Amino acid sequence: MTDTNATEGQADSSAEETPPAGNHWRKATLIGVHPQSWHSRTLVLDVPGWAGHLPGQHVDVRLTAADGYSAQRSYSLAEPATPDRVAVTVDLLPHGEVSPYLVESMELGDELDVRGPIGGWFVWEPGDPSIGDGPVLLIAGGSGVVPLVTMLRARKRAVDSTPTMLVYSLRGPRDLMYGPELEEMSADLSAPGSAEVRLVYTRKVPGGHPRPASHLTVEDIKPPSAWPEPLAARVYVCGSSGFVDHAAGLLHKAGYPDDRIRTERFGPTGVDR
Ligand SMILES: Cc1cc2nc3c(=O)[nH]c(=O)nc-3n(C[C@H](O)[C@H](O)[C@H](O)COP(=O)(O)OP(=O)(O)OC[C@H]3O[C@@H](n4cnc5c(N)ncnc54)[C@H](O)[C@@H]3O)c2cc1C
Repeated sequence: MTDTNATEGQADSSAEETPPAGNHWRKATLIGVHPQSWHSRTLVLDVPGWAGHLPGQHVDVRLTAADGYSAQRSYSLAEPATPDRVAVTVDLLPHGEVSPYLVESMELGDELDVRGPIGGWFVWEPGDPSIGDGPVLLIAGGSGVVPLVTMLRARKRAVDSTPTMLVYSLRGPRDLMYGPELEEMSADLSAPGSAEVRLVYTRKVPGGHPRPASHLTVEDIKPPSAWPEPLAARVYVCGSSGFVDHAAGLLHKAGYPDDRIRTERFGPTGVDR
């Protein structure tokens, strides 16, 4: 498995990655907010000079107080590239230092600093020649869905028809991010840019959902029967460290080779000064 927090030879693309030289802090102004779940929202930022990024990459966000104290955290880019624009979707960690400000307090017109794009491994662009026409399996735990939805959005924008499935594990209905968009994307699987979406509720299941609450199982990640060579799929897994380990174990059990799996862990990322 290729992983972003290196353990036992796995390469990890996320937390400790050093931005490339010249990757400097830029001023960003909040120009839009979109609620996602009861405890998360998307922040749309105007970032003059932002040249673009790949789906799956992330940014560092830095907040600075009047006394000069600053704190920075990493957030996945929540939209495919648009010049001068960055979006992140932040999930509230109730006793966290940075996420409560981003989810509950930051107002339109407020500023912060961003640096990036960061990461070159946990990325997928439609037409990626290293994948060819092979299928793509996306597995998300909680807010780990953010970079995977960005990949799906890029795919839709490119009217790409690579067979693609998102398996999204979440606690309960009120934790669902991107609900209407995922529903629309999976409504007609013959439509260009559509993708199969499987919601895996771990604690509370909404009425009418066919699957009882439980953690992700091998059955949940079983590819659609129409996929010609399921084990040749490129697999992206994103979520907490525990979730990524669990999903990777299931993928191994299902027979996916290590070199098809790319993972990113949303562990603590703080640098406070
Ligand atoms: C590459 C990368 C991309 C990320 N992308 C996103 C994203 O798109 N959306 C998003 O909401 N978050 C994302 N994160 C997580 C984010 O960077 C912060 O860790 C998170 O917002 C918490 O910050 P905080 O300052 O509120 O909490 P902190 O003050 O840093 O932490 C408070 C407490 O919670 C623990 N903690 C911190 N982070 C986590 C976590 N993620 N899970 C469980 N416990 C934690 C800490 O150890 C501490 O005990 C990403 C992380 C990485 C490495």
